[in-house]
Amino acid sequence: MLKFDYHNHPQAHREDLHYREEVLQPWADKARAIGITDFALTDHDRYKAGFSFDELKKFQYNNSDLKIRAGIELDNDPETSDSGKKWVEKHYDDLDFVLGSVHFVKDFPFDHPYYIKEYDNYDIDELYTEYYKLIQKTAKSGLVDSLAHLDLIKIFKFFPETDLSALYEETLDIIKAQDLSMEISTAGFRKPIGEQYPHFDLIKLAKAKGISFTIASDAHTAADLGKNYDLLENILKEFEIEEVATYEKHKKIMASPYL
Ligand SMILES: [Zn+2]
Ligand SMILES: [Zn+2]
Repeated sequence: MLKFDYHNHPQAHREDLHYREEVLQPWADKARAIGITDFALTDHDRYKAGFSFDELKKFQYNNSDLKIRAGIELDNDPETSDSGKKWVEKHYDDLDFVLGSVHFVKDFPFDHPYYIKEYDNYDIDELYTEYYKLIQKTAKSGLVDSLAHLDLIKIFKFFPETDLSALYEETLDIIKAQDLSMEISTAGFRKPIGEQYPHFDLIKLAKAKGISFTIASDAHTAADLGKNYDLLENILKEFEIEEVATYEKHKKIMASPYL
């Protein structure tokens, strides 16, 4: 069993689930039940109003047998990401971990099923190219520790027609140069793509470049914490990944993910 989970959304996508004991405690209970000893809360920056350092501190104090990291997922939402960035800058020293992600290309939320028709309006290779250029911008922002679901753009199984390997290579080189981690996430198993993020080829390439990995379920409910971690464990074994990154106040600590 794997013991770290560095991408979780206690607020799901709901404004009524602001940080308080009844919202947070189920995450610690679930972690304990399945052997997760170190996990990060990383709600989307657009829900920063529901984040509370005081509530988080109480939660950590009440569950001091677990390492619970203060985190956030900073994305490129055209409406909220500017204020999200400012919030991260302001609270940077109080946060352990910042995930960087891209959820918008051409200003539409490409991973939302409601907007799937939007794909018809664009050339898929162009969308992929814009997506990875935005990932590169995020990686260079100086605000993030790890890149979430690196190939999220494959979610609905639209694939590029040309070979974009130079773009992938360039993206991973930037991640490495910035000394960031790349997430391996089981969230894709719950989506139409039906596989982990990112693709095996990207994991292989990242490993060859010496990029560190964070591991995550991207749970939006405590029940999904560590979901499909048996599959993730197989992937780590397949790629001989023996240590992954954990974070305390943005300091990367490499550790065995095994209990
Ligand atoms: Zn995300
Ligand atoms: Zn997420």
